[in-house]
Amino acid sequence: MIRKIGAVILLMALAACGQQSATEQNSAEVADLILENGKLYSFSWDEPSLEGEPAANAPYSNGSWTPDAQAIAIKDGIIIAVGSSGDMTTFTGPNTETVDVMGGTILPGFVDTHTHIEELGATLDDVDLKGVETEEEAVQRVVDHIEKYKIPKGQWVVARGWDEGRWADRYPTEKLISERVPDHPVLLDGTNGFGAWGNKLAMVEAGITKDSKNPTGGIIHRNENGEPNGAVRNRGVALYREAVPALSKERMMTRLVNGLQLMANDGYSMVHHAGANTPIMDAYQALNAENKLSIRVSAMISGRDTLQMEQWKKTGPIKYDSNMLFVHSVKGYYDGSLGARGAKLVEEYSDMPGQIGVSGDDYGFLTNEVGSILQAGFQVNIHAIGDGANREVLHFFKDNFSKNTDLQKLRHRIEHAQVVHPDDFKLYDELDIIAAVQPPFVAEDKVWTVDRIGAERAKGAYAWRTFRRNNVPLAFGSDLMGYSWNIFYGLHSAITRQSRDGQPEGGWYPDEKLSSEEAVRGYTTGAAYAGFVENETGTLEAGKWADITVLDMDVLNVGENSPGDLFNGNVLMTIVGGNIIYNK
Ligand SMILES: [Zn+2]
Repeated sequence: MIRKIGAVILLMALAACGQQSATEQNSAEVADLILENGKLYSFSWDEPSLEGEPAANAPYSNGSWTPDAQAIAIKDGIIIAVGSSGDMTTFTGPNTETVDVMGGTILPGFVDTHTHIEELGATLDDVDLKGVETEEEAVQRVVDHIEKYKIPKGQWVVARGWDEGRWADRYPTEKLISERVPDHPVLLDGTNGFGAWGNKLAMVEAGITKDSKNPTGGIIHRNENGEPNGAVRNRGVALYREAVPALSKERMMTRLVNGLQLMANDGYSMVHHAGANTPIMDAYQALNAENKLSIRVSAMISGRDTLQMEQWKKTGPIKYDSNMLFVHSVKGYYDGSLGARGAKLVEEYSDMPGQIGVSGDDYGFLTNEVGSILQAGFQVNIHAIGDGANREVLHFFKDNFSKNTDLQKLRHRIEHAQVVHPDDFKLYDELDIIAAVQPPFVAEDKVWTVDRIGAERAKGAYAWRTFRRNNVPLAFGSDLMGYSWNIFYGLHSAITRQSRDGQPEGGWYPDEKLSSEEAVRGYTTGAAYAGFVENETGTLEAGKWADITVLDMDVLNVGENSPGDLFNGNVLMTIVGGNIIYNK
């Protein structure tokens, strides 16, 4: 059934506001900004079925979507009307800015629910190793960076972005980087934070010597004589990171501002920051106070920062008056990555007998501290990759809910939820856990997933349809910098379960594919629910925040009928609270 909204939907609050005089009411209805001549999808219709069939009142029939409006009017950061372009004349005054989007697709603003914004901002001043194929290439980029920016001898150089999963069986050592860069301590951090290597000077500054013991949940790689060779894995990475001098607050603020603007340029009106330690949180608070947050941020405080958790337990969850910064959740870290074989499995790795990964206390998860901040009313979002870790985290939640059943309502999340044992999906449902998943993982990880866990266990990997069938809410993100946050790439992965080149044919474990509507909802309505802002955003309706993404492509129809074409799409405009933050 196709539903067209011919009549304008007015903000009910305006009509209901009896004390206002007629003139005040009229002036209240003049928009600051109007977008017209678009293909607007409001997403105000009902959710699709658990199999992905659009609801009866969705603007969909015979395999094709029809926009349910063409224009939108905004005042004071709030949507006041959604309707046809003709309807907008009612809201046009002398100071109204009208933007003709010329057939662009107007959607609710996209939200990336798992980001590390400071790393994104750092790409503008650290060495970017994304896409490097060899050790030589990585080292060359460091050498070039030092020359280009004339970095003084003795100053740390941080490079990040090489792929620990792909390089799992051939980690570099300090040798080449020490030869080529003898005068600067260098950290070459992996893209997912599960592997790193450094040069000799970095090892000295990090205190990595023959006498160093492996840290809890981490490994120091060594040569035959027991001498560290420069490479570290899992929690061993922290040895280097802690040796890198902290950024000044101003520099951290600049990084966050830059990172948020890069997200706005890619169509995001909000991000969830997965694990903000004290310096990051201080910078966010300062940016909020100075009105410098361009897009909205829901910051999960770091479940590794004990002191910070103690402080926030006293404060409690906060929504700042600006509506730009939200602090109501904590990021927990439960196991390592599947690529680097650090993820905790129920049974041993298929390609490494005897190895089941590490988790929980052994991985440095602070069971008591995280449990205690959960008991204080925070949403707890725990990184869990392996089926063993997922199971243990579900039981962590269950134990906590048994102390206070109300805490189950706090929309706790498992981040990544990457491999789930078939018996455990129903436990997600029973405990009301959200699966915060990243569609690009399938596009990139599938090359080694079956090696690591075998074909049978892979059925529970990135099992989005199975989550849906078990009533588990989904929230989508990228986990940048590890994975591309390009929205068209994310939608393509969710819809096709293929890599960029269309492999494998028909999709990887295609039963788990999602519809184009479900894919968009993962970044909009689903993300809004996961961030407790479904009454304020996620759909385009009068009374909600004017958070809007305009694309040059109708991703619902293209995603359904020719998803390979999604890569040709572009973001035209990102609007946050009525402010145009990006305009192509
Ligand atoms: Zn992450």
